[in-house]
Amino acid sequence: MGLTKKEEIWIEEQFDELIKMSKRLRSQEDVDLVRKAFDMANEAHSKMRRKSGEPYFTHPIAVAMIVASEIGLGVKSIVSALLHDVVEDTDYTLNDIETLFGTSIAGIVGGLTKISNILDKDATLQVENFRKMILTMSQDIRVIFIKLADRLHNMRTLDSMPEYKQIKIASETTYLYAPLAHRLGLYSIKTELEDLALKYEHPLIYWEISKKFTETEEERNKYIEKVKLPIQKSLEQENIKANILGRTKSIFSIWNKMRTKNVPFEEIYDLFAIRIIFDHPDDYPDSKARSQCYQIMALVTNIYPHLEDRVRDWVAKPKANGYEALHVTVMGPNGDWIEVQIRSRKMNDIAEKGLASHWKYKVNDKDSPGSLDKLINTLNQTLENNTNDTLSFLDDVKMNIFTKEVYVFTPKGEIKKIPTGATVIDLAYEIHSEVGNKAIAAKVNHQLKPLSHVLKSGDQVEILTSDKQSPKREWINFAITSKAKNRIKSSLREERIHHINKGQEIFIKKVRDLNLKLDHKRFKELRKTYDTPHKEDFYFKIGAGLIQIDDLEKQAAKTFKTFANYWKLSIPKFGANQTLNKKNTLIIDDADIKRITLAKCCNPIPGDEIAGFVNPNESIIIHKRICEKLTSLAATQGDRIISVKWTSYKLQSFKVKIKIEGMDKLGMLNKITKVISLDSRVNMKSLSFNTDDEIFSGEIILYVHDSQDLEDIIKDLLRIDGVNKVTRLED
Ligand code: MN
Repeated sequence: MGLTKKEEIWIEEQFDELIKMSKRLRSQEDVDLVRKAFDMANEAHSKMRRKSGEPYFTHPIAVAMIVASEIGLGVKSIVSALLHDVVEDTDYTLNDIETLFGTSIAGIVGGLTKISNILDKDATLQVENFRKMILTMSQDIRVIFIKLADRLHNMRTLDSMPEYKQIKIASETTYLYAPLAHRLGLYSIKTELEDLALKYEHPLIYWEISKKFTETEEERNKYIEKVKLPIQKSLEQENIKANILGRTKSIFSIWNKMRTKNVPFEEIYDLFAIRIIFDHPDDYPDSKARSQCYQIMALVTNIYPHLEDRVRDWVAKPKANGYEALHVTVMGPNGDWIEVQIRSRKMNDIAEKGLASHWKYKVNDKDSPGSLDKLINTLNQTLENNTNDTLSFLDDVKMNIFTKEVYVFTPKGEIKKIPTGATVIDLAYEIHSEVGNKAIAAKVNHQLKPLSHVLKSGDQVEILTSDKQSPKREWINFAITSKAKNRIKSSLREERIHHINKGQEIFIKKVRDLNLKLDHKRFKELRKTYDTPHKEDFYFKIGAGLIQIDDLEKQAAKTFKTFANYWKLSIPKFGANQTLNKKNTLIIDDADIKRITLAKCCNPIPGDEIAGFVNPNESIIIHKRICEKLTSLAATQGDRIISVKWTSYKLQSFKVKIKIEGMDKLGMLNKITKVISLDSRVNMKSLSFNTDDEIFSGEIILYVHDSQDLEDIIKDLLRIDGVNKVTRLED
């Protein structure tokens, strides 16, 4: 049904209203652009009506008005708000919007369309939806501002919806939108959303509280006046121009208090707060306006006694969302506690309208005192560098607000906050220190990822744990939160002490069994043969199984007979004048690894049968005996081949790649990562999996000490029900 004459006239009047309240339109061009969007959206929606029977276009107009006046955004946002349902509900496409209004507006409208596609049409995937919504937000923060305005208007007009929809929309509002509004510092929108949601989610509670509220209103107002009067006088004496308001608590916050503190309405005493909003010639963020706050506080606390420990100073230390004010709790004339909030006019604007209002204020002082939020600095810098087009500042701000934190979800849909760059291990420790200590890997958006994987906003993360797991030293390299790092370090310290004690026991027993006579000097030489001169390290490595002392007798015999030069002789130097002796075996250990290279063609690991090839530049390359490259080198340059053996030294880890194939069964990935994590000698670096018609194949990169470790792990993997084949890839 088309529009009636009367409706057409009314809509035209709304255009003038909208322009009047759009304080941030700066030129005739801006007004023309709004006109163009207004006409296009009006025409596109002309045949549609809302559930209430009103012309549909009343909704985009109302959203644009909220965006312009209640959030205080500029022309691009107003235009996008007018167009926000055009692509969704009419024949126009995003391409049309782009052609007519440019890429930036089309981007915002596109983001809004995407959100409504996932959020408004599919109620079942709430967590997933929210995830996508946050991701959309990352592209242009205005999308979220407009979406909040859209939701606010829908909440204000929720009456005409059927009840089941009211409940769905209301609970989404409490769960998703009100917290978002809070985060963006849109305090009044947050409060209104909460109250409206409560009205539909728990109508009886809502009406009961608001009834009691109204009943006590007159009495309360009288009391507020009584509290205000002396403050008013005192401010006048000091020539401070200020408004004093009595701010009543929102219905939602009263209910919240009744619920969390388990008290009836009558027992909530702080139903209102007194707010002092003062004018200052050098307002925000000038320090003079700030010191005015403290001066006013002194005046107030001269009249009413206050509690020292109930002063909350968000002037020296603004909240993350930009909120600045001084709160002090004083004892009122009736002997009850009243909160007094002190703010400058501009601090108040920011508190009410959020960050978007920052743009208005010319910034003069670059070195603001106190710990001004980084965000505000970003905004200020943007303003300073961008004097000719302040309106586009939101283009530059984009995600800066959110870059400090990343939001991820647990499988149950709980939201966890971690810093940007945090990895799976950080999240694991964030959830619980035991989860961290036992973590082996994670499923991130249903894909298996190692503990070092960096998480992104919106990721859904399930931490996989194993009782056999214990914290590993290398975790410190990729943990970024101090919580995770401290927990890992303290666990390692405990573990180290445990290993040292165990190692000492093993060693002493062995020495007794062999009846070795060890003096201080000999013990030191013996430790050197294991390349571990420090006693503590020596015991630790024995205890941790990094050094085997089965050959202690042999080592001791060798060391004590020839300790002056034995060890040095075992590593021949390859000088230009020195001939290579094939009979002279080179024993390589950890220290030599720097001098030698492991051949890429066959990737030898300790335990493999190996041989060395001495390059013309005297560096040594180690190949497996079975390597074809080595065979051909031996055939052509046989004099450069030397015999090489591994020591039993076990510290160095070697990278190997294995392929695993089988039938895809439930929990297969879990079983595989568990088997790997249970083996303390093996570490997983990465893992990739493919499933095709119930057949899976995967490649795992592992760190092992030697071929025995690898054989063992392959055997263990083959024991998993469903695994058919495990092979080592030579790469
Ligand atoms: Mn809408």
